[in-house]
Amino acid sequence: MAERHAVRRAAAATCSVSGCEEPSARSVSGKEASEKAKLSLKTKGGRAHLCRTHYRTYKKATKGDKELERLAW
Ligand SMILES: [Zn+2]
Repeated sequence: MAERHAVRRAAAATCSVSGCEEPSARSVSGKEASEKAKLSLKTKGGRAHLCRTHYRTYKKATKGDKELERLAW
């Protein structure tokens, strides 16, 4: 896993999703996180820091479109 850089950069940050206090694992586009993954963020705009759980939600929401299309065949 190539997570070392991300972890070191985001070490002090917690998840940007409101109500979530998990340490952030990844930072993503705040816009995509709120619009595509329907996550409610504490911060607006810029980057959103997501914990593993919410990153998975985000991943599913952004990548899931393609898989759904593929399944529809
Ligand atoms: Zn979270």
